Amino acid sequence: MAQTIAALSTAPGGAIGIVRISGDAAESCLRALFTPVGSRDLQPRVLTYGVLTVHGRVIDRPMAVFFPAPATYTGEPMAEIHCHGSSAVLQAVLSALFDLGARQAEPGEFTRRAFLNGKLDLFAAEAVGDLVTAHSEQAAALAVSQLGGHMSTEFADMRQRLVAVCAQFLAVIDYPDEEIEDLPLTEIGQTLSDMRARLTTLHESYSRGRALREGLPCAIIGRPNAGKSTLLNALLGYDRAIVTDIAGTTRDTVEETLCLGGLVLRLQDTAGLRETDDPVEKIGVSRARDAVRHAAESGVVLAVFDGSKPVGGEDRMVMREAKNAARAVAILNKADLPRADGWEELSDCFRAVVPLSAKHREGLSELTDTLLTLTGVRDLPSDGGLITNIRQAETLKRTAERLELAAEHLKAGFSPDAVVYDIEGAIESLGELTGQSVQNDIVDHIFANFCVGK
Ligand code: GDP
Repeated sequence: MAQTIAALSTAPGGAIGIVRISGDAAESCLRALFTPVGSRDLQPRVLTYGVLTVHGRVIDRPMAVFFPAPATYTGEPMAEIHCHGSSAVLQAVLSALFDLGARQAEPGEFTRRAFLNGKLDLFAAEAVGDLVTAHSEQAAALAVSQLGGHMSTEFADMRQRLVAVCAQFLAVIDYPDEEIEDLPLTEIGQTLSDMRARLTTLHESYSRGRALREGLPCAIIGRPNAGKSTLLNALLGYDRAIVTDIAGTTRDTVEETLCLGGLVLRLQDTAGLRETDDPVEKIGVSRARDAVRHAAESGVVLAVFDGSKPVGGEDRMVMREAKNAARAVAILNKADLPRADGWEELSDCFRAVVPLSAKHREGLSELTDTLLTLTGVRDLPSDGGLITNIRQAETLKRTAERLELAAEHLKAGFSPDAVVYDIEGAIESLGELTGQSVQNDIVDHIFANFCVGK
């Protein structure tokens, strides 16, 4: 028995509001409120126009549909009512459904039911969440491919292979007539190492995946008047920060989110990093340092230089600042003016130097290109093999560690139960990734695949 749940599935304030219903009473709840207009009755999976009546009053003329189980998102009977977006109408529909015995769905409950009913594994269920919150086309594309099940199938296959390996060892342990030496130990060792390598690669893809899903903090640094605010405005496409000729006007930090060719940057326009006695500017400089530290550790630093002026002491300070960053790009600004001498030294401190004119908005596409390459957001694996959440990343790491131990123990000639213990740990954490359970199916597998009674 699946208790019937209902919820508004669209954001409030839209022209249309969709109420979703899942559970055994989905169809009867719909029929209690909705009557098709015209001669045709509601048909499964056919969106139908009709009237919605609550307590004897017609409150809307919506479209509605029902889906019989099990071919539905949750695996349960489902229905949807596509109302006009009035919050009063939507509230009335939900109240009427609750009067009929449905209850308010909890956050994520439709997808949780889909998972519990075997419609999605945990990995794919997480991709649903990623898809809903994707900030860029690329992030959405990644979530869709994860939802497509490529990775889920790969994890399920790995798990099956590990279960099979365990089964071979358990046969030796449980049935003393079998000899450990009869097992293809080299082959098993290779399987474990290959799997560990693949899981480690996936674990390492997390920083790219996270960049894609959450965006990266990005600090724009440079001496006063280098053109930071002008660059920020050029990137944003509209005037956001105050741009003036007076040094030190960008006193505070300004946060904006920017999507450059699929890369989401959480931009912070920082006050010029320089020594100052002005107390207000000092606060700005200190915040700028925090922003730079954060971006340097986990994001991108854009270091802006005024190429029309000779390299100065403050520029060198900026270079030093950027040198510690994981990813930094030097922007040689004011390329529309004659270049002063000495800027070649930038290539000693930066992997990427992009000449551009922020004022004339020239060279911005080269900057975008450089950033996409630097952050690895350009080429996405089509199989969805990029890890986007910390739970998955940590689970993969744990699994890889257990496999490494198993391979080491196998190599060192440990007893079969020690190796089995490690592999079972790996199976269990791989199962955590996809949401499967462990012990019973290992046992099942022995009897299904081994001829132990010989
Ligand atoms: P910030 O202090 O680093 O934020 O510098 P601003 O963005 O306020 O720019 C300082 C001055 O440089 C302003 O007068 C801008 O118009 C000018 N500027 C910025 N970028 C360029 C550019 O690409 N070419 C030229 N010629 N001037 C620029």
